[in-house]
Amino acid sequence: MTRCAHCGNRWTIGDKLRESFKFSFDRSMTCPYCGEKQYLTRRYMKKSMLITFLMSLIMFLPSFFSVTWQVHVAFIIISIPTAFFLILYTFELTSAYEGDFWDDQIR
Ligand SMILES: [Zn+2]
Repeated sequence: MTRCAHCGNRWTIGDKLRESFKFSFDRSMTCPYCGEKQYLTRRYMKKSMLITFLMSLIMFLPSFFSVTWQVHVAFIIISIPTAFFLILYTFELTSAYEGDFWDDQIR
């Protein structure tokens, strides 16, 4: 469940999709309820990267075994919506920009 860090209103799946596909230079999203700028938390960025990596791994898993093309298609059909669902479900917002997830690895 995703809530605005400023007003506490719950963001719907539609709000998340609409705001994440909007382009902005500072990577901010505008809360549809209070109009305040919201940013993704660094924890969420790490999580979504991990989900994307794991789902791509699962998607290409049948390539390492001799299986029929139907198995490949089934893995692709299952892994892409699962990744989308997990990425949208684990959405976390903050009012202050926390920097990119790789910032703490560099320092
Ligand atoms: Zn808000």
